[in-house]
Amino acid sequence: MNTVKRTRIVELLTREDYGATVNVKGWVRTRRGSKSVNFIALNDGSTIKNVQVVADVEKFDAELLKLITTGACISVDGTLVQSVGSGQNVEVQATAIEVLGTCASDYPMQKKGQTFEYMRQHAHMRLRTNTFGAVFRIRHHMAMAIHQYFHEHGFVYFHTPIITASDCEGAGQMFQVTTQNLYDLKKDEEGHIDYSGDFFGKATSLTVSGQLEGELGATALGAIYTFGPTFRAENSNTPRHLAEFWMIEPEMAFYDITDNMDLAEDFIKYCVRWALENCQDDLAFLNQMIDKTLLERLHFVLENDFQRLTYTEGIEILEEAVRNGRKFEFPVSWGVDLASEHERYLVEEHFKRPVILTDYPKEIKAFYMKMNDDGKTVRAMDVLFPQIGEIIGGSEREADYDKLMARINELEIPMKDMWWYLDTRRFGSCPHSGFGLGFERLILFVTGMQNIRDVIPFPRTPKTAEF
Ligand code: ATP
Ligand code: MN
Repeated sequence: MNTVKRTRIVELLTREDYGATVNVKGWVRTRRGSKSVNFIALNDGSTIKNVQVVADVEKFDAELLKLITTGACISVDGTLVQSVGSGQNVEVQATAIEVLGTCASDYPMQKKGQTFEYMRQHAHMRLRTNTFGAVFRIRHHMAMAIHQYFHEHGFVYFHTPIITASDCEGAGQMFQVTTQNLYDLKKDEEGHIDYSGDFFGKATSLTVSGQLEGELGATALGAIYTFGPTFRAENSNTPRHLAEFWMIEPEMAFYDITDNMDLAEDFIKYCVRWALENCQDDLAFLNQMIDKTLLERLHFVLENDFQRLTYTEGIEILEEAVRNGRKFEFPVSWGVDLASEHERYLVEEHFKRPVILTDYPKEIKAFYMKMNDDGKTVRAMDVLFPQIGEIIGGSEREADYDKLMARINELEIPMKDMWWYLDTRRFGSCPHSGFGLGFERLILFVTGMQNIRDVIPFPRTPKTAEF
């Protein structure tokens, strides 16, 4: 056995040197057969396609063939032959088969047509299925596209910390990091926990965003992007929220909000184009099995400009819809934070294309966003997508020290550990902008999957941290 070098199935299926001796290894999808011949569909994860292995029953021990069940791992030596019936150009006529790992009879991925909920409960094995193989190959390709895009555009890949002591953004949503003995917490006279003896000597958490450090990078290197894990302890059990997700955060000096919007649109289109060019087999599968309008939607996004309008204009459209009898679960009026149903109305029903909404009320946006002259709205921009709602949130940043401080004081944001952030506005401040793209939301869009738990290998959500 194994005198021939292994060929990955993705390469094997393109070969035309019929008669060659080959070796393939992989997991058995199915074995069916007659008295004289067995057909084994083999997959090694390199492609959604299986290779058909043909085994003449008389050449193999019946006991060996019995071990070749769905899920078993085998190594096959054989001859590459032209195929007529397998759906591929080639198949392998087996000369020797070695069972590398048999598969116990309670293999959870045996039956076809299980629900996604069932798959999540077996997330360790769902990776072996066609759907999840396709999703995670596409996820890989999107990561490559992102790095390639920013590299081509002169952005520096910038690593921001995972553990942070800044609690100015969404304090209630942060996961604390501590090495203290939770059974014996030190408290001061007022009952506050004393962090001086903790690992970092102060309270620390997992990051909710790399943006603030990203701004330090942008105002030195010109343009940076982060691409890393992000943690939010928000108790939102939705198909679009994870407690641990990956975020891409570009931050650019000398970009105003229009430059920022142009970048966001160009960047997303680049990723979608990359998927269409590099993930054809997987997309074709998902289009057929998961969402029949997927490919159409991907092409549509590429071919159309995103609709740009202000929050105020968006509210007017929504109010008009309500006057015309459209029902929403949550009320709409100027000043409210848009719910996903509102965002999707604008995208899917009104404009029928991606939307970039700008100039939100300052009350519903973060302290660092640049104030408009009206004193009421800030230069925020959210990119809203069909089926998903918000896929990107960003803004031009407030570059003026006094205005930034005024806002911080107004909101009573605890800045004692944030002196370094304020220094960007003291030492050579400059106009700058940036945004955050939720990686899993991009993957949702590109794969047509419906639930964010199904586009990350091992999802973390409230009450779920299995695997
Ligand atoms: P949402 O309103 O959907 O909760 P957000 O306004 O809290 O999002 P931002 O803080 O602007 O989001 O984060 C930037 C991007 O990160 C969002 O546009 C979204 O794509 C993604 N994102 C935010 N929260 C989550 C989450 N819990 N799980 C997955 N992706 C997320
Ligand atoms: Mn949120």
